[in-house]
Amino acid sequence: AALYNVDGWGGPYFAVNAAGNISVRSHGSATLSHQEIDLLKIVKKASDPKSLGGLGLQLPLIVRFPDVLKNRLECLQSAFDYAIQSEGYGSHYQGVYPVKCNQDRFVVEDIVKFGSPFRFGLEAGSKPELLLAMSCLCKGNPDALLICNGFKDAEYISLALVANKLALNTVIVLEQEEEVDLIVDLSKKLCIKPVIGLRAKLRTKHSGHFGGTSGEKGKFGLTTAQILRVVKKLDLAGMLDCLQLLHFHIGSQIPSTALLADGVGEAAQIYCELVRLGANMRVIDIGGGLGIDYDGSKSCDSDISVGYSLEEYAAAVVHAVKCVCDRRSVKNPVICSESGRAIVSHQSILVFEAVGTSSTVGGASSVFSSPYLAGDLSEDYRFLSEAAFGGDYERCLVYTEELKERCVEQFKQGMVCMEQLAAVDGLCELVRKAVGAGESVRRYHVNLSVFTSIPDAWGIEQVFPIIPIHRLDEKPSVRGILSDLTCDSDGKIDKFINGESSLPLHEVDGGGYYLGMFLGGAYEEALGGFHNLFGGPSVVRVSQSDGPHSFAVTRAVPGPSCGDVLRVMQHQPELMFETLKHRAYEYVSQDNAAVLASGLARTFDRMPYLVPLSSFDEAALPASD
Ligand code: PLP
Repeated sequence: AALYNVDGWGGPYFAVNAAGNISVRSHGSATLSHQEIDLLKIVKKASDPKSLGGLGLQLPLIVRFPDVLKNRLECLQSAFDYAIQSEGYGSHYQGVYPVKCNQDRFVVEDIVKFGSPFRFGLEAGSKPELLLAMSCLCKGNPDALLICNGFKDAEYISLALVANKLALNTVIVLEQEEEVDLIVDLSKKLCIKPVIGLRAKLRTKHSGHFGGTSGEKGKFGLTTAQILRVVKKLDLAGMLDCLQLLHFHIGSQIPSTALLADGVGEAAQIYCELVRLGANMRVIDIGGGLGIDYDGSKSCDSDISVGYSLEEYAAAVVHAVKCVCDRRSVKNPVICSESGRAIVSHQSILVFEAVGTSSTVGGASSVFSSPYLAGDLSEDYRFLSEAAFGGDYERCLVYTEELKERCVEQFKQGMVCMEQLAAVDGLCELVRKAVGAGESVRRYHVNLSVFTSIPDAWGIEQVFPIIPIHRLDEKPSVRGILSDLTCDSDGKIDKFINGESSLPLHEVDGGGYYLGMFLGGAYEEALGGFHNLFGGPSVVRVSQSDGPHSFAVTRAVPGPSCGDVLRVMQHQPELMFETLKHRAYEYVSQDNAAVLASGLARTFDRMPYLVPLSSFDEAALPASD
């Protein structure tokens, strides 16, 4: 456990048991030892062809623990409840889960169910995400917030207005100034009074990898001038009372509470200014950013660790909002956060198997008796021995490398046979080891695709705790890197949480050698091709045809629809549609419910991308009730 720092990054959910295997404490308590689950046993059971009704699942395997998810939600809520109580804060905390972090049907449904006692809601950033959030929240607490973020077109805004009509506690958050015109227009047409939020572009900048979208030049949100224009437009439209929420997000993995408090303090000032300008403000939504300590170092100087606990995070937020609001005599707002990484990272483990290794050690022990180290080469061996006996290790290393280079050249010219080359490789390896110039690193072939299952390892070189899930009572004898089954040289993992480029590992014996990637429950599943559920693009095949500049489209394949991408994450679009249709008949008149339902059906069938305004079909809008 110490070698892999399990206690550092794994607590309170993961530990090593007496059998030397990873055990999962899904309730987050070390005292309930009888409830610990041996991860290896789960893997064996899942892959046993005789259990689970003969299913015999293949690895790689994602093992999910809903109890961990429940515990994370409860811990987040109680951290804020405690901070609110100790500060004497004048309102409450009400979080939402950004579904983009993991849109898996069961993860989202569990969050709605577990969070229902404390009104925990959902955040959506695209049309398919909004559809799934709407249908899941139909079964949740009616006060839970439904935050609609992301770039919006008329169809997205209409859908959010429909959610409002279906009695879901919906807030449409402006990310771009132009969205306000669409909201004013469509809400008047639909006779729905929306609740509007706006995302502010803060000056506070998060300098880590995940802070690229923060600061004045960030990608999202409204500048100070834009906020003022939006307030004016809403005022002119008689809708300033609809503006009730201020949102910001300075990036994921906020490294320190100092930076957090700085950002929250700035946002609280904007919140108070909006109150002064006449908006009907109620909620401050501090976005995501609550970090995860991937390497267990509790450091605020790296992208893979954070220097605070859940409790310290909540205390910093509550204190910063209270200070500003109290100073300006503004009623303390409801505090909302959109923590994704911190909620879902721990709840799943990706387990995969090492199916073999390639060794860089080439039969070194047979070198000295080998008949292949003959002639010229045995002369080299004599020089090498002299250097070694003289204690000149530097010369030994230089000498063996030169020897190897020379032999490779001779091999290319056909002067050295393969056996001789292998013997020289072995000799070099042996010398390196003997003089302590580094152990040999083996390549462990693991049965997964890094691109599909751990895309951030490839895309942004993120490091996750990856360790064997058994044999942890046995000293590892080898160092290795992990190489996946894709035929792509980037399909490897050679950066680990210990800061090194190889991992201490055990010899792979006949019984199977299983490794786990931990803390990857956020983003990894969602990014492997379906980030924000946008799915893939449409594809056309174009050939040149007769005539100048002429061509023919020989094949056209539309990209997946909202329904298609939802199906990939195990949702059932047909059932979701039925739930929403049923709700429409419950909340609006028969005629309008039918129009709403056909509009919803159209959205399920359309691609998730933005629809150009010119082709937006206004006939899909119901008349007012
Ligand atoms: N909210 C918004 C607007 C985001 O862009 C993100 C992710 O980047 C999140 C919430 C979730 O952030 P985190 O995973 O750091 O909690």
